[in-house]
Amino acid sequence: MTIELITKAQTQRTSQAGQAGQVALVGAGPGDPELLTLKAIKAIESADLILFDNLVSTEIRALFPAHTKTIYVGKKKADHCIPQDQLNLFMVDKAKQGLNICRLKGGDPFVFGRGSEEQLVLHAHDIKTTIVPGVTAASGCTAYAGIPLTHRGLSTGCTFITGHLKNGKLDLNWPQLAHLDHTLVFYMGLGKLAEISEQLTRHGLDANTPAALIENGSTPQQREFVGTVSTLPTLAIEHQLKSPSLIVIGSVVSLAEKLSWRDLEQATKNQALSA
Ligand code: SAH
Repeated sequence: MTIELITKAQTQRTSQAGQAGQVALVGAGPGDPELLTLKAIKAIESADLILFDNLVSTEIRALFPAHTKTIYVGKKKADHCIPQDQLNLFMVDKAKQGLNICRLKGGDPFVFGRGSEEQLVLHAHDIKTTIVPGVTAASGCTAYAGIPLTHRGLSTGCTFITGHLKNGKLDLNWPQLAHLDHTLVFYMGLGKLAEISEQLTRHGLDANTPAALIENGSTPQQREFVGTVSTLPTLAIEHQLKSPSLIVIGSVVSLAEKLSWRDLEQATKNQALSA
């Protein structure tokens, strides 16, 4: 069945008078529209209202149906264009009016995406929800950079860590992270890169551990820089990395050159900088 056929049936479903609408918390993946799931496309096509975040790429926004009301609800660091609690209540209100909402988020809604926080509020107001998982940045960006998250003999596991904490302090279990001996992926860590690098090496991670920075992963603007855990902060400054960027630390990064598969014209590769 084609996407058009699948979505047509959904699009024809309109909210019935008097009935509360539902909210689909949908992951849009890291940017490449072709990484959207069929369920995500269905949710986008069938919604009465789409509320989308900053990390939802321009190419994905271009897929929003022209007739559907869409609202940008932001969330760059300093640009919370609608505070989270107001947004939650806005969704409750609109769903109670009968609108089916697609709450579209970058990556996966349950990975540093506040999807679960929003769902808790919606359920507290008896609004029905569905969750549509998306390709999270850790797997999407690394795959597009030729870095496996695990590799037999190099990494037995992977940890996703936030580099951005509410009080601004990175209060992580550094001794444990430095000795996990597997792949570490930091989300929202660019602003704290110097601290991440310093803390990990101070607590025993080999300063020469391969590490990478991936900016705008999976989009045509992707840039990737390979170095070591100790050289990452300098790389980030030299190349003026910007958000969204992902930090990947671990032996698996050493495979990036061999496993690289994207068109060189599409992705800016900087493997030579790893010296
Ligand atoms: N829910 C999202 C994560 C939101 S937190 C997910 O599952 O991917 C936002 C952080 O995700 C960014 O600061 C960055 O570290 C990372 N990120 C998201 N998309 C990215 C992309 N295309 N390229 C690089 N990093 C990305």
